[in-house]
Amino acid sequence: MHIARNRVYLRQMERYIADRAIKIDASGIRKVFALAASLKDPINFSIGQPDFDVPEPIKQEAIDAIRQGWNKYSQTAGDDYLREKIADYTRDEFGWENPAVLVASGVSGGLLLAFMALVNPGDEVIIPDPYFVIYKHIINMMGGRCVFVDSYPGFELPVAKIAQAVTEKTKLIIVNSPCNPSGAVYSRQDLEALAEIAAERKIIVLADRIYEKFCYDGEPAGIAECYDRTLVLRGFSKSYGMPGWRLAYVAAHECLADVVEQMTKIQQYTFVCAPTPFQKAAITALDYDVSSQVNAYRKKRDLIYEGLKDTFELTRPGGAFYAFVKSPMQPASDFVAKAIKKNLLIIPGCVFSEKDTHFRISYATGDDKIRQGVEILKSLV
Ligand code: PMP
Repeated sequence: MHIARNRVYLRQMERYIADRAIKIDASGIRKVFALAASLKDPINFSIGQPDFDVPEPIKQEAIDAIRQGWNKYSQTAGDDYLREKIADYTRDEFGWENPAVLVASGVSGGLLLAFMALVNPGDEVIIPDPYFVIYKHIINMMGGRCVFVDSYPGFELPVAKIAQAVTEKTKLIIVNSPCNPSGAVYSRQDLEALAEIAAERKIIVLADRIYEKFCYDGEPAGIAECYDRTLVLRGFSKSYGMPGWRLAYVAAHECLADVVEQMTKIQQYTFVCAPTPFQKAAITALDYDVSSQVNAYRKKRDLIYEGLKDTFELTRPGGAFYAFVKSPMQPASDFVAKAIKKNLLIIPGCVFSEKDTHFRISYATGDDKIRQGVEILKSLV
């Protein structure tokens, strides 16, 4: 009765709701969150945010900024001091003489602006699969076509398959390293090979580097270091435990200055600006050393990998705070349902992939919870 009434309601609503909204399937992650709410003290391996809080000096900067009246709109592209500081960093890092910088409301905000500025209906965007969920849905919303390129089972950058997937309609290639959900960190060699492929047709590469600080086995390589047509997206959410502050930046070589300008124009009529007081705090954050947090997360990575490797098929994640594990039962969604019944929240791989063979673990939680979760997973095999 209740379901029938719901269906009638939905049919009525479809008269009002735009096609682009109907096309989006409610994120599977949120469905797991809803389930989590009904469980009592679950082991939560589903959350994509660090378990540490914003470091005290950065919090203090934000509080001071609010007290000192930094509560108005900032410049559309962001506070000048912050943009200058970001420009200095990227100038040194990438050897860009005159970088274009835009401060955005989270990498999610930056992604929306980038896809709005770049993707026309029918344009193709190449995305290694598995991938971060947002890409697919925003690109679909723009009428673009996602071209997924399989990176199973090792989740390295699938360079040869990307080369085959390029057509005259290819507008963008997305590179997310360290990768959500696999935790893979792409090698310098593969990124250089991708740069050559992109350069042939002058294709823009969007590098989502939000997990860059969480690299456990040495300095990560990046494509911006070898390819100028790269839009770099970096966020503060994960590195400084501030996902609720909604802060990120886009940086690019001057050859992409027009793209960043178009994105800024769209920001003017959508987000307007990133949160002003938090931009002040971001200036402090950029110099803040998070190596102790990263060291703690390296230990969590080891706990997960060592705990599961003899029972499950998984590659050792080099970064981020995720492991993407082959399910012992197919489809993986069935295994996830079994785990949830045991009070353990994990996410089915189909949320991040065209396949439903794996599940994602987020180990951004306490070490004891990690140990307990590992035991539950092993007991399910
Ligand atoms: N990119 C990736 C790969 C992510 O995992 C996330 C958050 N889960 C984002 C971007 C968006 O982060 P935010 O909007 O908080 O900066």
